[in-house]
Amino acid sequence: MNNGKICVSVCAETADELIEQIKRAADLADVIEIRFDCLKKEDVQKAVSILPNTEKHFLATFRPSEQGGKRDLTLGERLKFWESLLWKNKEKKFLVDNEFDFKIPLDFEKTPTIISFHDFSGVPQNLYAQYDLTTRLFSNRRNLIIKIAVQTNDITDTIPIWKLLGRAKSENKEIIPIAMGESGKWTRILGLAHGAFMTYAALDSGQETAPGQVSAKDLIEVYRAKELDETTEVYGILGSNTSVSMSPYIHNAAFKFLGLNSVFVPLQVHDLDEFMRRMVKAETREVELNFKGFSVTIPHKQAIIKHLDFIDETAKKIGAVNTVKIVDGKLHGYNTDANGFIEPLLNSYGDLTGAKVALLGAGGAARACVYALKHAGAVVTIFARDVAKAKSLVNDFQVELKELPKTKDQRPKTNFKDFDILVNCTPLGMQGKAEGETPATDEQLKGLKLVYDLVYIPLQTALLTEADKAEVPKIGGIAMLIAQAVEQQKIWTALDAPMEEMSRAALEKLS
Ligand code: NAP
Repeated sequence: MNNGKICVSVCAETADELIEQIKRAADLADVIEIRFDCLKKEDVQKAVSILPNTEKHFLATFRPSEQGGKRDLTLGERLKFWESLLWKNKEKKFLVDNEFDFKIPLDFEKTPTIISFHDFSGVPQNLYAQYDLTTRLFSNRRNLIIKIAVQTNDITDTIPIWKLLGRAKSENKEIIPIAMGESGKWTRILGLAHGAFMTYAALDSGQETAPGQVSAKDLIEVYRAKELDETTEVYGILGSNTSVSMSPYIHNAAFKFLGLNSVFVPLQVHDLDEFMRRMVKAETREVELNFKGFSVTIPHKQAIIKHLDFIDETAKKIGAVNTVKIVDGKLHGYNTDANGFIEPLLNSYGDLTGAKVALLGAGGAARACVYALKHAGAVVTIFARDVAKAKSLVNDFQVELKELPKTKDQRPKTNFKDFDILVNCTPLGMQGKAEGETPATDEQLKGLKLVYDLVYIPLQTALLTEADKAEVPKIGGIAMLIAQAVEQQKIWTALDAPMEEMSRAALEKLS
């Protein structure tokens, strides 16, 4: 347990809508940030007059657009707002967000004040100078809290802001360090555990008031941000787009169920070498985050290998690592995709010896699937849209190769009646650009004994719908997702992983 606070930001155009949001936020928040600058001009005074009574602290923010706020505001408007807000609500518990460029009238100097500095363009070179200047300029304020929020584009951009937290703590100063953007999401989750005064959260997913904000419900129930401390063991998903990952939901459900002081966070990494050097490797890292392991996803599954101290035999044969365990500073790599893929298939189909499998796609997941299928005695034919690209996979595993057309209207001419099983390892059907697309119609699927789609968002893909029409049994990608995560938990914790809890968490999120 730590002493930090969760601040839920509310932002609405009308006073009535704002009041409704404040009431909902009161159930989750320690502090409710009211973004008065979100209101239409004519609703500001109405909102000021009808703020409800709650036990929670309010944080009032009236931010002009040049500071990242929602409205153009003159200095006069800002002054008038603060005077009326604080006079009309004297009995309420307020914190005020005082942007760096402006001083709220001194009458209110006893009110806890957040001096905020925002940079939406990146991490300024003079971050520490900005911090020094702020502490100096506002040194006469009691209850001063410094908030510095900067935009990050890759995970190592977060290092200066994280170091600033350490410095403020050593000087007994209250600070809210925020690395905005998906790459900085982990700082919003771990900040409280390392002494940040507060972390901001969105009232609901989709209502974020700043880039990379986590919803309050996720921060409290999934990440347990207030229960973490400096000894918490940190795991995370390493990938170039972590915003869509289900792994935090699945793994945090397991850690919570097992009662472990562990957390699993998104780690959006573009430059893997720099991340390893500056944040992970004991000899060179600049921050201490108590990393104990990673899930590795696109595009780092192969690139991670050169950073490992040990690689398990299966991962070596597949040529890809999706799991890293850190023991005494050494990185051990594994691949749980192969087992995660084959387990549901064996459960559903039975013995695979001699089974004829048509496997669509030749990317990272295909490698693990082909390895597992060959290992189980199946006869595999790969269908790839780029035959030249698929050559190394075909050569490594000695399987047959056929061409797969690229788009929905050019489905494979073949039907798959000569095969027993069809496995889709392409993103066709996945939420986003390819949603609704299927690599095969029901006509082409007739005669198969099983269709296995690795895609899991949505749960029911277009391919699975075609399988239903053709009355062919099916397995959706969620089965593999859970099975590979269960294997990862076993590697990390050496405990029996709570599969039901993990599935429940994934299904709850996906539906
Ligand atoms: P990847 O490395 O990017 O490989 C994707 C493969 O699909 C490549 O061979 C690609 O061909 C091919 N492809 C892409 N778009 C295509 C199209 N429109 N028509 C035909 N082929 C196309 O991705 P991956 O890691 O293998 O993942 C593949 C899918 O499996 C993703 O949807 C992923 O979410 C899913 N997956 C699920 C699980 C699970 O646990 N259920 C685990 C891993 C992956 P090119 O090489 O020509 O681009």
